[in-house]
Amino acid sequence: MTTHHCAIDIGNGIIRHARAPRNLDSMLKDAATGRSLSGEEVLQRAFELSAKGFEVMPIGCDNFDAKGYCLGHQQEAAQQ
Ligand SMILES: [Zn+2]
Repeated sequence: MTTHHCAIDIGNGIIRHARAPRNLDSMLKDAATGRSLSGEEVLQRAFELSAKGFEVMPIGCDNFDAKGYCLGHQQEAAQQ
């Protein structure tokens, strides 16, 4: 079985809120520390990804294409 992660549309989901960063507070957590990110930090990451050609921001995903879309993950039967 293959599962796909959700991803946030960078343009419509994040950068559209650039003038209202409070809308983005706590939308993401730092993967390393688990700390909730401020809206400004979410925006910064979105701009960085956009500059690399990403269209979406992958969430909790380590297998995505050049635009950020999840390529799918095989699940072991025992984990379902
Ligand atoms: Zn994924």
